Amino acid sequence: MDEIIFKQTESNFVKVRCQKCKNEQVIFTKPASTVKCLVCEEVLAKSTGGKANIVAEVIENYS
Ligand SMILES: [Zn+2]
Repeated sequence: MDEIIFKQTESNFVKVRCQKCKNEQVIFTKPASTVKCLVCEEVLAKSTGGKANIVAEVIENYS
């Protein structure tokens, strides 16, 4: 008996590039809190309670 599992097509992690200092960083797409750049503390993604509002430039998706 097969169960139907809802699969999300979007990945849970993305690589983004900070707009300010060009640092590349892998972030979770559903963070519990705002994600900031580790180098310059620019906001990369804003927590919404679900999928984050990613402010930085997404350069790679991971499945
Ligand atoms: Zn930065």
